[in-house]
Amino acid sequence: MKAALFREHGGAEKILYEDYRDPTIGAGEALIRVRACALNQVDMLLLDGRFPPPEGLPHVNGCEVTGTVEATGAGVTGLARGQRVIIFPGFACGRCEYCLLGERTVCVRYGYLGAHKDGGYAELVQAPAANVLPLPEAIGFEAGAAVPLAMLTSWHALVAQAELRPGQTVLVQAAGSGVGSAAIQIARLCGARVITTVGSDDKVEFAKALGAEHVVNYRTQDFVEETKKWTGKRGVDVVVEHIGGDTFERSVYALTRLGKLVTIGSHDTHWGRLDLRHVYSKNLRILGTNLGSIVELKTVLDHVVRGQLRPVVDRAFPLKDARAAVQHVLDRKNKGKVLLVS
Ligand SMILES: [Zn+2]
Repeated sequence: MKAALFREHGGAEKILYEDYRDPTIGAGEALIRVRACALNQVDMLLLDGRFPPPEGLPHVNGCEVTGTVEATGAGVTGLARGQRVIIFPGFACGRCEYCLLGERTVCVRYGYLGAHKDGGYAELVQAPAANVLPLPEAIGFEAGAAVPLAMLTSWHALVAQAELRPGQTVLVQAAGSGVGSAAIQIARLCGARVITTVGSDDKVEFAKALGAEHVVNYRTQDFVEETKKWTGKRGVDVVVEHIGGDTFERSVYALTRLGKLVTIGSHDTHWGRLDLRHVYSKNLRILGTNLGSIVELKTVLDHVVRGQLRPVVDRAFPLKDARAAVQHVLDRKNKGKVLLVS
C-alpha cells in the first residue's frame, strides 16, 4: 500500500509518501480501507519527537479514521466487507484495575491508533474489531473523520469531567483547532455561554458562527482581562485548555471560584506553572481528561446525525499531499479539521 510515513523526527519535510508494508490482521482484528483521516496536534508531537512513537520509526500517523471494511480476522462478527465504518482510536487491555473499574481511558496499557501503532495516513489500517463501529449513512467519510478524537475528547471534557450545566460560562482555548471548534458547539449544546480565543482576526467570524459569544485575539488582547470583562469581573466556570505553558498558567486566572480547568492536551509544551494560591483559595479543580468512551462516541455521532453538532472540516488533501497538509496545520492556518482523503 501507499502511506505517508516518517523515518526521522522533524518538521513536515520528514513526511514521505511511499510504498509501505500492508498491515496484517489476526483473530479479532479488522483491516480498514481508509477513506478519510484527520490530522491532529498529537501527530505533530509524534513527528517532531516530543512524543516519540513507542514502537519506533518508521511510523505512520493518523488517529481519526473513517473508511470501509476490507477484511476481518477469525472470530469477527457484525462487520461486512465494504461496510462504512469509523474507528474508535483508543485501545485498552480490558483486564487491568482501571479497565475493570470501567475507566478504560486510563488503562495501564492504553494506546492510540496512529501513536502506539501505525495509523491512518495510509491506504489501509488495522484495528481491533471491537474498535470498529458503523458510520451512520447520514455522516460522510470526511465529516466522520473529524469526530473520533477531537469531538469525543471535547465531549468527555465538558460533559463528563466538567459536568457543564446550562447558564454556566466557558472559556475555550483556540477556536480554530479541532478540539476548540468542537468544544464551542458542545458547550452551546449544554446551554452554556462561550468566550474563546483565536490567533488571527480572520478566525473571529468563524468562532462566532460556531456559537461563541465573545472572541479574543490572544496575540493582540489579554484573554484573562477580556474574560474578566465579559463576566463582570467574576471569571468563567470552566476552561477548556490544550495549549500548555503560559496559556495553562493564565487560564487558571480566568476561572471563578469553584471553577474547573479541564486540560486535554499540551500542544505547545508539556509544562505549565500553577499558582497554588488560586487553586486552594478558590476551591478550583484541575481535571485531566483523555479521549472518552465508545458509548460517548456513539452519543456524539447521534448528535451529528441530528444536526446538533457539526464536524468542522477546514480542508481535505489527497494522501499523497500529506506533507502539505501537515505544514498547513503547523502554520496554524486551519479553521477546524484538516483531512487526508483517498
Ligand atoms: Zn487496562
